[in-house]
Parts: sequence; C-alpha cells; structure tokens
Amino acid sequence: MIYADYNATTPCDRKIAERMLEIQCDEFVNPSNRASLSGRRARGLIDTAREQLAKAVGAYPDELVFTSGATEAANTIIYGVMQRLMSERPRILTSAIEHPAVCMPADFCAQSGADWVEIRVDNQGRLDMAHLQASLQEKPTALVCVMAANNETGVLQNIPELVRIAHDAGALVFCDMTQILGKLPFNVHTDGVDFACFSAHKCYGPKGVGAFYKRRGLSLSPLIRGGGQEENLRSGTENVAGIAGFGMAADQAAREVNQRKAKLQRLTRTLESQLRAHLPGLVIQSSEADRLPGTSMCSLPNIKGKWLAQLPGIIASSGSACASLQGKPSHVLREMGVEPETALRSIRISLGSPSTEAEVRAIASQMIAGAEKLGF
Ligand code: PLP
Repeated sequence: MIYADYNATTPCDRKIAERMLEIQCDEFVNPSNRASLSGRRARGLIDTAREQLAKAVGAYPDELVFTSGATEAANTIIYGVMQRLMSERPRILTSAIEHPAVCMPADFCAQSGADWVEIRVDNQGRLDMAHLQASLQEKPTALVCVMAANNETGVLQNIPELVRIAHDAGALVFCDMTQILGKLPFNVHTDGVDFACFSAHKCYGPKGVGAFYKRRGLSLSPLIRGGGQEENLRSGTENVAGIAGFGMAADQAAREVNQRKAKLQRLTRTLESQLRAHLPGLVIQSSEADRLPGTSMCSLPNIKGKWLAQLPGIIASSGSACASLQGKPSHVLREMGVEPETALRSIRISLGSPSTEAEVRAIASQMIAGAEKLGF
C-alpha cells in the first residue's frame, strides 16, 4: 500500500509515540497538583510543549490554548467571538471554501441570529477581495474566517492582505492554519491574524490534540467550562501526553520546515509532470495560484467512472474526509466552478515527509493506467 492522504492525517512519529507512552504511564500525576513534584513535572511538560508550539507558529506561549483538535479550536473561537460581539457586530464572514470545522459553527451562529456571508473564490480558489471588502462595508462584522491553506486543493490565501482589509473595517480575523504547519514557514504575528487553529495529527503528532492562538489582549468566552484549566479557556484535565506529543511534533516541524517544503515541491513536480505528459485534459486544481507543496487535486473533466476506484494499491481520497463520508461532491471544487460529476471523480494526492520518488512514480503510473481503463 502507498499512502498518499497526508492532508487527511499523518502517521504519528514513532519516537514521539514512544515518549508519549512513557508520559502516560510514568508522568501520570495531575498537572494541577502543584503541591507534588510529580504534578509540577507534568505541568512542566505542558509548559515545554506550549513553548515549542509558540516557537513554531511565531506566537508568545501565553497566546496558545491546547484543545482536542482544530475542530474544537475553531468552534471555541467562532462561538467565543460571536457570543461577545454579535449584538454590536452581527456579521460573520467565512471564505466559501472553509473546512466544515469552520463553516458548521458559522452556520450554527446564523441559526442563532448572526448574519453569515460566504466570500466567493475565483476558479483557482483565491478569495475575492472585492467581495470581502463590500461585505465588510455592508454591515458591522465581528469575525472574518479564512484558512491559510486549503486541505483539498492546497490553495494559499493572501493572509496579510485580507487582515489589512478586515482590520480597516474593525473586524477580527481567524485563520485556520491546520494544513500549513510544518509544510511552509509562517508567523502569526507577522501575518497579523487575531486567532488561529492548529492540529497535531496533521504534522506527525497524535490525533485528538490541537490548539488555538489568541492574540494577547483579546478576550474570548470559553466553549468548555469547568475546572478552569488553560487559563479558563478550555477546562478539563489536560491530555499531558498528547500535548507533549504535539509540542515535539511542532518543534520538529519548525526545525525541518524548509527541508520538508523542498522535498514536497520536488515530489509534486515529478507527480504532476508525469500525469500531464500522459493525460491531456488533466486539470490540477489551483495550479495557477500559490499552492501548498505536496497537494495535487487532479480532475479529468468528463471522466466516465470512479477514477479513485482504479487505484487499488494507493490510499488517496477524492477530497476531504467529510465530503467522502457523505458521498457528496466537494463544496470546495463546486465553489471554484467544477462540475459536480468531475468533482466527485477527482483524486487528491497529498504527500508527506515519508513519501518517496519511487512512490510518486508508482502513483502516477497507476493513475494513468486507471484513467486509460476509463477511456482516456
Ligand atoms: N481544518 C482543516 C483545514 C483541516 O484539514 C482539518 C482536518 O481535517 C481540520 C480543520 C480539523 O482538524 P481536527 O481533525 O484536528 O479536528
């Protein structure tokens, strides 16, 4: 089996998993037990992880809050901001190609009286800045939510530019940075975002751990209330091993990001040049825009049949895990103007650090053979 679905999830680094096992079994004392040395050691593991993540994303450690993943982080930010600001600023804007972790809470806010508007994208998936500006001018807006890199096509948004536009209109900006961590260098302070979210399992850490960034000085209502952990922003006994694992994964991501980027760019070039040479009419979505290295959403307009089903030795996907579950065409491709049938039959190849040149060539051969079987 060749794994090519790294945007869906990555394998947990074995050294990290081993260290996490030690922490689970040996450093199990509650980190809130500050009276004991063991409790303080467990607290120290969380502090170290926060520093590691802060360094990787360009934040201060006290600006980060650990959660159960990017979904919880996004829900906390969206509900937390809207709850505080909705009466004065009823509007929430999201790009039309957000992950469900962002558009579903925005939809729920709309059901509770917020005015939710989705900002259009062009046929490459780039945000329509004029639509953003017009929507901000129409009504006071509390929050603008735009992902840095799309999980399906890899398209990158111009974050500093949209932050400038949103801030000029008095709106806060939340950026889903789940896919970019470890693939491209970035810095939340330089980008100027107010909130961001991250997930450990997208960068060789464990599943079930994530975090959000909240710029110093901003306030937020918590989603989960209880014992007051994480400065009252996320109650519940901390997942010490998971958080430590995330810290280690973030630390490694920060140290290796330029190497990973170069490798993913090289592998993507090989894959796409092979495919283009043999499949006239192939569309690599968002390929005219700035794109995440390692993500190739491949479409053959009018393909007759399920292309993905022709790749028995390869684990890839036809879009996000959520869309596949529902058997629906990807809303991301639909918003970019791709026909529903083509969207359903597109294949997303997403590569990662363990991917090799030989794997990429094997993927290309299978995709070409599969397309030929379907009449191309
Ligand atoms: N945002 C993006 C862009 C994603 O790709 C994902 C993962 O599927 C999420 C949010 C949700 O992350 P998690 O699985 O940590 O909740």
